[in-house]
Amino acid sequence: MTTPLLERLKAQISVSGPITVAEYMAACLGDRAHGYYTTAEPFGVKGDFITAPEVSQMFGELIGAFLVTAFQDLGDPQSVSLVELGPGRGTLMADILRMARLRPALINAVELHLVETSPRLREVQKNTLKKAPLMPTFHDRLAGVPDGPVLIVANEFFDALPIHQFVKTHDGWHERVIGLDDAGELAFGVGTARLDEKDVPKTARNAAPGTILETQPAANAICEEIGARLSAYGGVALFIDYGYLRSAPGDTLQAVHGHAYDPVLARPGGADLTAHVNFEALAHAAKRAGAVAFAPLTQGDFLLKLGLLERAGALGSGKSPAVQDDIRAAVERLAGPERMGELFKVFAISSHRTPISPFDRLWHPDQ
Ligand code: SAH
Repeated sequence: MTTPLLERLKAQISVSGPITVAEYMAACLGDRAHGYYTTAEPFGVKGDFITAPEVSQMFGELIGAFLVTAFQDLGDPQSVSLVELGPGRGTLMADILRMARLRPALINAVELHLVETSPRLREVQKNTLKKAPLMPTFHDRLAGVPDGPVLIVANEFFDALPIHQFVKTHDGWHERVIGLDDAGELAFGVGTARLDEKDVPKTARNAAPGTILETQPAANAICEEIGARLSAYGGVALFIDYGYLRSAPGDTLQAVHGHAYDPVLARPGGADLTAHVNFEALAHAAKRAGAVAFAPLTQGDFLLKLGLLERAGALGSGKSPAVQDDIRAAVERLAGPERMGELFKVFAISSHRTPISPFDRLWHPDQ
């Protein structure tokens, strides 16, 4: 099994040496010619995985309800940018806007901005939002969104950003790299670059040799940039992703192809590649920039507190038993502890210290 990107990476490594896990991830997902998001159709039954907005419209509608509350808490600003990072097929935003329509002051104030690097997915998003009350403006980066108050949402976005991995050795944490083995195939190795001891979390200080530790500077930098925007102009950002709440060692890099796990090095550009998100690191980044963090909730808690069951009841009322069964299955999939309910976390940062319902307290992950 080979892919065009695999051949290119092998040629590149044989000439200029091993690459970092971050370089590998960035190439696999974002390469302009052969990257996964540039070329493949990731989402849905025929794709490789199904994200929460694709499970049911209820997910986006409840997030829309949260954003309406956030907008009111900001004091109904005259103008606000509604920004989504990594909108996929555009389904989440379509569902958010359907809910936001119930608050005309919000629709009148909003300018819609989508941050998406894949030209192919931009076309899909435009099409999904054809009937929406607002036309999106596209950006490669958040920096392109004009200054001013913002409402930001991102589902399964941070997990697609490149991470670095470090391996514990007898002389500190060395960067994990990808080189070639004797047969000329991609293989993990240990590089010379070392992680500064001050950047090793307490939970990893006594780790055994061979233990892996991950850092996510790209995700942290974006969160810091968002935090700076919030503290300068006001606003709220909501992130939904799978990840962990305390910095800790562990190898979370994974590839998924056709709804099944795939070896990470097997199919560059042909499989989705993700890593778990370190929410504690995101909270620190946001705080460095002057924003506040609310204590994360599990996706199940977040959706149930926002009225998932009531919404499901309303949606199913008067419908056929088959439709009602589908709605029940979607509730279970989104909020069930064995499904997405526990693994996925919902995290918000804000310019204002008062937690927005259903968040109920500030988060100081150090203490
Ligand atoms: N939010 C969607 C899709 C998640 S997949 C959903 O829940 O269904 C990740 C999305 O992020 C894709 O749209 C991908 O093209 C986009 N993406 C990945 N890296 C990006 C980057 N650095 N900047 C902007 N978008 C990116």
